[in-house]
Amino acid sequence: MKRTALFCAAVALIAQAAQAQPVGGVKVSPQARAVHEAAIVLDTHMDTPALFARPGWDIADRHAVETDGSQVDLPRMIDGGVDGGFFAVFTPQGPRTKAGDDAARAYALVRATEIHEMVARHPGQFEIALTADDAQRIAGKHKHFVFLSMENAYPLAGDPGMLQAFYALGVRMVGFAHFANNDFADSATDKPEWNGLSPKGRALLAEMNRLGVIPDPSHSSDAVLDQVIELSKTPVVLSHSGSRAVFDSPRNAPDDLIRKLAARGGVIQINAYNAYMTAIPPNPDREKAMAALQAKYRGRRLTEAEAIAQTAERHAILAQHPIPRANLDDLMKHLLHVIDLVGVDHVGLCGDFDGGGGIDGYNSIADLPAVTERLLKASYSKEDIAKIWGGNVLRVMRETQAYAQAQKAGA
Ligand SMILES: [Zn+2]
Repeated sequence: MKRTALFCAAVALIAQAAQAQPVGGVKVSPQARAVHEAAIVLDTHMDTPALFARPGWDIADRHAVETDGSQVDLPRMIDGGVDGGFFAVFTPQGPRTKAGDDAARAYALVRATEIHEMVARHPGQFEIALTADDAQRIAGKHKHFVFLSMENAYPLAGDPGMLQAFYALGVRMVGFAHFANNDFADSATDKPEWNGLSPKGRALLAEMNRLGVIPDPSHSSDAVLDQVIELSKTPVVLSHSGSRAVFDSPRNAPDDLIRKLAARGGVIQINAYNAYMTAIPPNPDREKAMAALQAKYRGRRLTEAEAIAQTAERHAILAQHPIPRANLDDLMKHLLHVIDLVGVDHVGLCGDFDGGGGIDGYNSIADLPAVTERLLKASYSKEDIAKIWGGNVLRVMRETQAYAQAQKAGA
């Protein structure tokens, strides 16, 4: 009798644990899971390196977006059937002065080093990838490939020759600007200054082509996107952008430029960033509370305990002043619109995780199989789905590096 009661209690506990732990990630059909696992699945913009030096946070541990706000770690990459992706060296735009340029360069070098340190700490799970073949080889060993990318070329402003140094550190995709204009290019969210690329920006693009680095005009103005497509010798990747025809935001690309991008072999990776997908009416109370929360934690590296406290405070503000949330249906609208416009060879996905991304139903790297399920239901083949998840970007990387090699051989 006693033994039966104990057994029942144990079964109940196990059932409870199984329910609480989201192992396996989002629930999809076995067919969708099989198609997803067969593809090389990558995300083109992860801001997770911002967490690599956080005391108490390790990429090998399981975290939850609801608890500490983080969206990418090894257990959730496995849940999400994710083979790897581009880990960003992101630098916020600061003063365009000698001192600002020097500080940005140092900041970015530290961030790039932290990515290498993360991989060095987990040699059995992660490996740096420099080529598309590397990605395929690493995924074949059931390890996760780590490409480096740069978001905002500001760290190169003081010395564009630094692109070669960051290339040597593994950087294979570079975004020109971020929220504000810089010495290279106009931002999508600033007033025109150069009317596209500056002369220095054009020189940077030529250097990317020479080295075999993918140009990424996400965050750049339409004029920059247009000029980069026009001038680049290799196809262009928008690492995290949406469709402006679906939702009007300067961070989303208009149809004519998506057509032009695709005609030159480029790819747009559909972003899952709430504010670029749904209208958010102003709410002064919420904005004031959020600004105060930001100020409270600004200017220093948070510990994991502080990040958990900050996330709880954020949830409390949002419970009082809810914010409209985009969802998986919205993400599919952007994706399917671009497929209708230019076909499956020129589109992919990016969560902008740990960089402000995430929507309902697509809120961490564990949620990616949900899109595979939707695409299968919409009658896309497993070959189409494999192109969308990684094949398209890896094709662009091959073309980019083949061009650089051919130039070198010619010279
Ligand atoms: Zn971004």
